[in-house]
Amino acid sequence: MKLRKQMVAGNWKMNGSVELVNQIANAISAVELDKVDVVVFPPYPLLNNALQNELVVGAQSVSEHEAGAYTGEIDAQLLAELGCKYTLVGHSERRSIYGESDEVVASKFQRAQCQGLIPVLCVGESEQEREQNLTESVVSRQIDAVINKLGVVSLVKSVIAYEPVWAIGTGKTATPEQAQQVHKFIRDKIASLDDAVSQSLILLYGGSVNEKNSELLFAQPDIDGGLVGGASLNPDSFVNICKSA
Ligand code: PGA
Repeated sequence: MKLRKQMVAGNWKMNGSVELVNQIANAISAVELDKVDVVVFPPYPLLNNALQNELVVGAQSVSEHEAGAYTGEIDAQLLAELGCKYTLVGHSERRSIYGESDEVVASKFQRAQCQGLIPVLCVGESEQEREQNLTESVVSRQIDAVINKLGVVSLVKSVIAYEPVWAIGTGKTATPEQAQQVHKFIRDKIASLDDAVSQSLILLYGGSVNEKNSELLFAQPDIDGGLVGGASLNPDSFVNICKSA
């Protein structure tokens, strides 16, 4: 039995439908929710459907700005008012496709927390960075952007998801040992600043998690569950992943 309550999050990315919300909501009723927190991150137009189906939901991104003239952006205050509990910040697709810098990600983290949302800070190295032995420095830099701006205590009401970019959507999962090594690095790094914050922090692994590999990944001492992309779109797979946490 692990000390921290486990969490499994489904990142739907730009996928899904009203029908999928209904299917996932039905399927999740088979999961014992006192053992694991299950959260879905559907596209914005489906948030309300998901909430009406009594799912715990988060947004996939959020604006770093307060409400105003930002066409196409989504305000954290509105997400909170709607009933969202979480938001992803700094997913690698946001960083690489939309050019979000560490500083912008830290501002989004701050704006989310100001409105009572729990930010899920996504961090991780590219394949090239891993080959160059830069994994720890990249992950450190991405986490330090938040710590330097908001202090280590800001991590209390947050989640960190370690998602190696080379494992996202590629079918190439990090081995449980590789993932544990980076999770331990993150937990030790935070412990060097504040042990209590580090011990209570939920650290998720993401990157080609599926129902075959989830159990071993989640069994690692510093892995508290997963952020699941592709496999979260299949209700049966997603439920099996939740049950393995
Ligand atoms: P994947 O995506 O499970 O499809 O690799 C994970 C993610 O991007 O959060």
